[in-house]
Amino acid sequence: MGKLLDRQALRLATSSSEAGILDGRLVAAEVRRQVQLVVSRLRGLGHSVRLSVVRVGDDPASAIYVRHKQRDCAAVGIASEEVHLPDDATFERVLDTLASLNDRDDVDGVLLQLPLPAHIDPQRAISSIAAAKDVDGFHPDNLGQLMAWASAVEPATPRGVMTLLRAYDVELSGLDAVVIGRSMIVGRPMAQMLTRANATVTVCHRHTTGLEHYVRRAGLVVAATGVSGLVPGDWIREGAVVVDVGISRGQDGKLRGDVDFADARSRARLITPVPGGVGPMTRASLLENTVVAAARRRGISLRHDAHV
Ligand code: NAD
Repeated sequence: MGKLLDRQALRLATSSSEAGILDGRLVAAEVRRQVQLVVSRLRGLGHSVRLSVVRVGDDPASAIYVRHKQRDCAAVGIASEEVHLPDDATFERVLDTLASLNDRDDVDGVLLQLPLPAHIDPQRAISSIAAAKDVDGFHPDNLGQLMAWASAVEPATPRGVMTLLRAYDVELSGLDAVVIGRSMIVGRPMAQMLTRANATVTVCHRHTTGLEHYVRRAGLVVAATGVSGLVPGDWIREGAVVVDVGISRGQDGKLRGDVDFADARSRARLITPVPGGVGPMTRASLLENTVVAAARRRGISLRHDAHV
């Protein structure tokens, strides 16, 4: 995988007393630029790329997330469509919808927007998406490939975190990393990817006793819980790298991460802001997964493309 960004382009720490920012917006823009090149190359070979997003019910946040995904697709030349099913759609109807998208030759990526209404079992529904079109990387075949360290499509958030760390030349080999959170979407695949990159990984979760102990000794902290202020800044080891995946909204309406940013910044070497850190990387990684799925389905190698 090529080097993503010129070091000069990165806004690194300007003073030794404050961490540099891991700028997700900047790196995501570069990922999108490279995805766009791949889309053009595929188009040159006679293939357009299309993502289908299935949304069930009327969760307002989901509607916004799907709009963002469609806007992101449009910006890089990927066609997209939303299939919206009512809140009371039966499980069979959801399966039928996914099956018809699996069968459509013009559809490269199929994504089921989460969360689903309570009567729809997410794991069973996700398992019915063709693994080759599962651009979220949540299908058991793709998660299994991840365990085998052989995956092409990886869950977008941890993939985005890895891209961000690579862009800033963070050396992961031999590093003590702590991942806080063990969801299928973030924590567990994140731990796999960091292990693959030769970090020594501890996974903490809501039943962990003595979280502070694990955070204090970590050279890399990835926090993914959604519990605002879970990690006070003074837990951060001097010179550590901090990636804050968590998002919650404070009473003032502002978005917050899991880590106390201001205090952590005075101790860390590099840190992600919230917003503007992991969020843009997640969105850009979905686009990467979509072009990778499109190329693989058509037997086209992307090995020579700079990043994707
Ligand atoms: P989840 O609810 O599925 O998992 C949360 C995890 O946090 C669980 O494993 C739980 O054990 C752990 N946890 C909860 N309280 C804890 C505590 N007090 N101490 C230690 N661990 C604790 O959530 P998720 O889908 O993994 O998302 C996690 C957070 O990341 C949420 O805030 C979500 O909004 C955010 N998120 C952000 C992005 C992004 O692009 N920035 C993408 C996905 C998720």
